[in-house]
Amino acid sequence: MRIGVLALQGAFAKHEAALSSLGEATLQVRTPAQLAEVDALVMPGGESTTMSRLLVTSELFEPLHERIAEGMPVFGTCAGMILLATDVLDGRPDQRSFAAIDIAVRRNGYGRQIDSFETDIAVDGLDEPFHAVFIRAPRVESVGVDVEVLAEHEGVPVLARHGVVFVASFHPELTGDARLHAAFLQSIRR
Ligand code: GLN
Repeated sequence: MRIGVLALQGAFAKHEAALSSLGEATLQVRTPAQLAEVDALVMPGGESTTMSRLLVTSELFEPLHERIAEGMPVFGTCAGMILLATDVLDGRPDQRSFAAIDIAVRRNGYGRQIDSFETDIAVDGLDEPFHAVFIRAPRVESVGVDVEVLAEHEGVPVLARHGVVFVASFHPELTGDARLHAAFLQSIRR
């Protein structure tokens, strides 16, 4: 199984490092041909409006939309979560998303005064808390009935899953702790 990391923009290198630390072969995905080589995809944090634009100009948007609809596992973090959400609040009008998981997210929804913060969160399936880094993070405002919430911060979902679509509003790749990458891989291999 080959894990791709969407590498148009943003924090993709640290995701590759996390996956490599688990012994995974990774491939940077910037073109439709590279997308065709991978079995699963991590969509990093960065800037969702820029990523949306680059997905269109690189002609990746449509093939990626198709692969996700066909059931390719994806793990979207921060901006990647925004790209996978059904509803994007405070997005740019021309910003596109894949509507792969039934959540409404508000861009930069944690407000300016705390637009970056770190905290330990309890995650379903992990014995010890996970140190979560939020950087101008999207805030989940609602989740559909089929969405499984795996972690919350102050009552707000911050890690969720629908089938093989996983989303986190924080950056799990920044702390040298690959347990969430491992959990993603384990659940898609079942
Ligand atoms: N605020 C960014 C956006 O709207 C996301 C920030 C991040 O990915 N760290 O895309």
